[in-house]
Amino acid sequence: MSVSRRDLFKLAGVGAIISALPSKSSFAAAEKAGKMGAMLPPPKGNRVVVCGGGWAGLTVAKYLKKEDPNIEVVLIEKRPNFFSCPISNEWLAGLVSLDFLSHDYNQPAAKYGYKFINATVLGIERDKKRVYTNYGYIEYNYLVLAPGIRYNYSAWFKDDKQMAEYARVHYPPAFIPGSEHLALKRKVWEFEEGDFVITVPPGAYRCPPAPYERAAMIAHVFKKNKVKGRVIILDPKGDIAPKGPGFRTAYEQLYLGIVEYVPNAVIKEVDPVNKIIKTTAGDFKFADANLVPPHQAGSLVWMADLIAKDKEGKPTGWADQDPITFQAKADPNVFLVGDVIGGVPYPKSGHMANSQGKIVAKIIASRIKGKEYKPTLPDNTCYSMVNGDPQEAIVINVTYELKDEKIEPRARVINERSKALADATYKWAKALYRDMFA
Ligand SMILES: Cc1cc2nc3c(=O)[nH]c(=O)nc-3n(C[C@H](O)[C@H](O)[C@H](O)COP(=O)(O)OP(=O)(O)OC[C@H]3O[C@@H](n4cnc5c(N)ncnc54)[C@H](O)[C@@H]3O)c2cc1C
Repeated sequence: MSVSRRDLFKLAGVGAIISALPSKSSFAAAEKAGKMGAMLPPPKGNRVVVCGGGWAGLTVAKYLKKEDPNIEVVLIEKRPNFFSCPISNEWLAGLVSLDFLSHDYNQPAAKYGYKFINATVLGIERDKKRVYTNYGYIEYNYLVLAPGIRYNYSAWFKDDKQMAEYARVHYPPAFIPGSEHLALKRKVWEFEEGDFVITVPPGAYRCPPAPYERAAMIAHVFKKNKVKGRVIILDPKGDIAPKGPGFRTAYEQLYLGIVEYVPNAVIKEVDPVNKIIKTTAGDFKFADANLVPPHQAGSLVWMADLIAKDKEGKPTGWADQDPITFQAKADPNVFLVGDVIGGVPYPKSGHMANSQGKIVAKIIASRIKGKEYKPTLPDNTCYSMVNGDPQEAIVINVTYELKDEKIEPRARVINERSKALADATYKWAKALYRDMFA
């Protein structure tokens, strides 16, 4: 088959926004994938292709097979193994080993009978129901997009890709699992003196309490190693949320003079070369930093042309899906799940992605069986470690209710840190890992 340049632009999601523009090499890769032909024979029955093997995709794949073993499920993931962002702040502080966060994709694929393909999705043609990978294309009956987030450096550096790359390499955000986390840990443990700045992204971002938990864990390392360093949190919001009182008390009681929280610090300019950040709360020079830019839905959603638009027709950055069924508004055969979704009051979390994944699996399986299914609403639980010695955590649990067609959250928060909640943190993580992998 041949893929025209126009098709390639469509495949690569051009027209979304500048930062979605693929490089020349990704055009070449998509073209090569088109020329490679089919990677799997056409589906004999119902084939569901799940793109992205993170918290959402892994859950959808497993639960689809549990719902109906006759469904052919194909999970495509670009990473060879799984690295967990949840508990990565504890790992940053040396409280758990890398083994705790790492899992293999073979075990669940073998146990539940879905195909795991270690490949990168390069393009999506919804009219042909095809997904293009670096090994060729795969046809689907239903498509699930669960690629997580991508960084929106263009909000800081416009079209200056070199500066974006400089910031990412020198001050990795570590909000997408992998090498960035290793780099951040090295920086924290090698830090000698001065201000270590963390930027909290504006708008919706992955794991709202993560920057505050990370600040506490870095402060724990500085305190333990007697480093003359401060952790400066630059937050565009007026206050810490969620679990504000729990974090504030921990900063005051455990890390006085180490953690400085700066509210209303909306970023005006980031200069990673001269190590300076200009904000509405003042200018900050840093010795080292964890520069976390704004987040958006992962590139696959842009490629599939399924990003929501605001009233002025500008992309919101997040997927345009039904809030209850997770079905793409523009395509009944495509579902969006996990951190990519927009227009809902759900936090972007692993627990939430797992909870949504089970619902989406039920919806697709029921559709295939031709049965009615009334979807339930997902829920969220999120622990944050605030003390490293002794280990102590705080927690938020949120359930959701549909009232007058509006999804309303009901939150229960425990801001009093305790060892019991630290134990519960690891219990929660083990239960979720078991749910996705065992
Ligand atoms: C520091 C930190 C701490 C956190 N702590 C918690 C916590 O305590 N509790 C909690 O519930 N959540 C926590 N989270 C949030 C949680 O990690 C995310 O919300 C969760 O990973 C979202 O799941 P997802 O499946 O949507 O995305 P991901 O888990 O990121 O999965 C997306 C997958 O898609 C793959 N992918 C993307 N593009 C392609 C492509 N083109 N081809 C093939 N594969 C592709 C990626 O490699 C990735 O594996 C934390 C996050 C961070 C950063």
